[in-house]
Formats: sequence, C-alpha cells, structure tokens
Amino acid sequence: MTTNLRSGSLDAGRTAQAGPRVGVLALQGDFREHAHVLAKLGAEVSLVRRPEELAEIDGLVIPGGESSVMDKLARTFGLQAPLRQAISAGLPVYGTCAGLILLADTVLDAIAGQESLGGLDVVVRRNAFGSQNQSFETDLDIPALGDEPVHAVFIRGPVVESVGEAATPLATLADGRVVAVEQGNLLGTSFHPEITGEYRFHEYFLAKVSSRVRR
Ligand code: GLN
Repeated sequence: MTTNLRSGSLDAGRTAQAGPRVGVLALQGDFREHAHVLAKLGAEVSLVRRPEELAEIDGLVIPGGESSVMDKLARTFGLQAPLRQAISAGLPVYGTCAGLILLADTVLDAIAGQESLGGLDVVVRRNAFGSQNQSFETDLDIPALGDEPVHAVFIRGPVVESVGEAATPLATLADGRVVAVEQGNLLGTSFHPEITGEYRFHEYFLAKVSSRVRR
C-alpha cells in the first residue's frame, strides 16, 4: 500500500491540478527529507517499499543513505528486478549520493556482492573523498540550474569517475571531478540538495517527470 503524505490526495480525489505522482524509495536513508521537498513543490508523494507501488508513480527518488544496505533490502523485498524494469522502461529517477550509486552502471569500491540497479552510463566510486575529507560543503556552478551557485553538502559521497557516451555531466568540483550527471530521464548527484533548502534539483527532476507523465 502506498503511504500518502498529502491528506486528501488519494486517487479518488485526484483533480486536474494534482501534481505529478512521485515515489521516494523508502527502504533506508533520508527518504523523509526528499518527501518533504517534493511535497513542498506540489508533487503527490508516496513512499515506495513494494513492487506494486511502482505502478502508482510517474517518477522515483532514491535517497541518500547506504547503497549496500539499500541494495540488500531491494533484493529482500523483491524490488530489484521491478526497479530495473521501470528504469529501462523510462521511469524518471533521481538518485542522491547512495541513490546515484544505485543508478550507476558500474560501482567501484563496492562491498563484496554489492549490486547496483544501473541505468546511468557512468562509473562511480563510493566514499571517494577519503577519511580526511569524507564530508564537506562547497558551492557549485551548475549552468543547467541557472546563475545562482548550488550549495552542495557531501556526506561520504561518491564521485563519478567516468561519464559514458550516453550520460552528460551537470556539475564538477573545482578539480574537475564530476558530481552530478543526467541521462534522459535519469538524474544523479553525489551530494544532498534535500537537506539544504535547495529545491532546484527537485524542480529540474519534476520537469522530467511532468514531461513524461502518463496516467
Ligand atoms: N557512502 C554511502 C554509500 O556508499 C553513501 C553516503 C550517502 O548517501 N550520504 O552508499
């Protein structure tokens, strides 16, 4: 069953003005923060923990947390194959940090047996900033989001070590390392816009969702 976070927004009450239906994968991690931002932006938000809940959404956010744990839980709950199918069928998906790791086709420094869902033609390295600098904040110029820099918080985040032909870098650190990418309906960031009051990535994602909404 879908947990509906907006009162009065159950299916029977949908109106022409209803926002896009966006799920947040709620197996582990900071899914509540994403749900909060998406709801503020007018999306009809649900928490996704079961395969059948994927049929009820037009887009999905995979939160930050611990990618190896989310991977294990996704397999335990029978979500891995349905998620992979949904991604290859074109479901818009935005992954932050651990979520980016789950969307990457190739993951370096994964734990033994860790799998990703894939979809993004990138190689990411987990925990790429080393023990001295695991968490930090910086401002990023992201032309796709406008002139105002994005304040980015990194918490044991990955970097995108290589970007394949199908994917496009959206943001880089001053040293040139890629920390945000997109590919068609997929979007991934190494950092956490959901905890800083930065809404532009979610808006950017909702535009992808809205341009593809099918009911
Ligand atoms: N290091 C975590 C992982 O490998 C990601 C950290 C995060 O999502 N903040 O999944």
